[in-house]
Amino acid sequence: MLTIDNLTNEIDGKAILKGLSLSIKAGEIHAIMGPNGAGKSTLAYTLGGRPHYEVTGGTATFEGADLFEMEPHERAAAGLFLGFQYPVEIPGVSNLQFLRESLNSQRKARGEEPLSGGEFIKLAKEKAALLGLDMEMLKRPVNVGFSGGEKKRAEMVQMGILDPRLAILDETDSGLDIDALKIVGAGINAIMRRPDKAVLLITHYQRLLDYVKPDFVHVLAAGRIVKSGGPELALELEREGYAEVVAA
Ligand code: ADP
Ligand code: MG
Ligand code: MG
Repeated sequence: MLTIDNLTNEIDGKAILKGLSLSIKAGEIHAIMGPNGAGKSTLAYTLGGRPHYEVTGGTATFEGADLFEMEPHERAAAGLFLGFQYPVEIPGVSNLQFLRESLNSQRKARGEEPLSGGEFIKLAKEKAALLGLDMEMLKRPVNVGFSGGEKKRAEMVQMGILDPRLAILDETDSGLDIDALKIVGAGINAIMRRPDKAVLLITHYQRLLDYVKPDFVHVLAAGRIVKSGGPELALELEREGYAEVVAA
């Protein structure tokens, strides 16, 4: 589904990713862990096509297409979803408006008919229920006044509605208490754990991985993947710390 080969990039002339390679197949959940400043968020933003994240070498192929030849909205329409560490607030635009607009513009880009108002509300209710988020919350402006947990749940509702092929989730667990973590974890499993989908979970901590069990765990340090393994690697990292595991 996604093959990244020897990716290097720069932000404002500063090299961040330094030869990162990673391959993700349909049906797999991968976790990337790593110390602060390793380049985890940079990887997510670069794959999403954020401005100023300049690719200087290497390739990324998503569902057989050259990802870096696609505009950010084309990547999204092709089924790439990015969940952010710090979700943005959009005053004046309700969640429901935002979600319907996002979904229908992606459907249009794929040559599909837009959902009617009724169809959309039915879908939104179903996904909100899955994440335990009140529909009243979705009538409010995007993320304005939402708690950390509510923002992450709303983001998972968005993921459920957009129904992506590949979700890259950057520290989705940050700021969540245990109850919210369980709900968000269950939401990720319900929406994304399918044979035709894949997830790249970026996290500092092992605890999200108690709820969303990864098939593969990678350590990102100084701009590249320095170690890969199974779920046991996350436990080892938690126990011994990055420095110890990376040096071994
Ligand atoms: P992580 O998510 O693993 O904590 P980041 O990808 O956020 O790491 O950051 C990787 C490196 O890139 C850090 O050294 C950080 O200071 C640098 N960096 C991130 N964003 C910018 C930016 N906009 N301009 C310059 N340097 C940046
Ligand atoms: Mg960080
Ligand atoms: Mg980060």
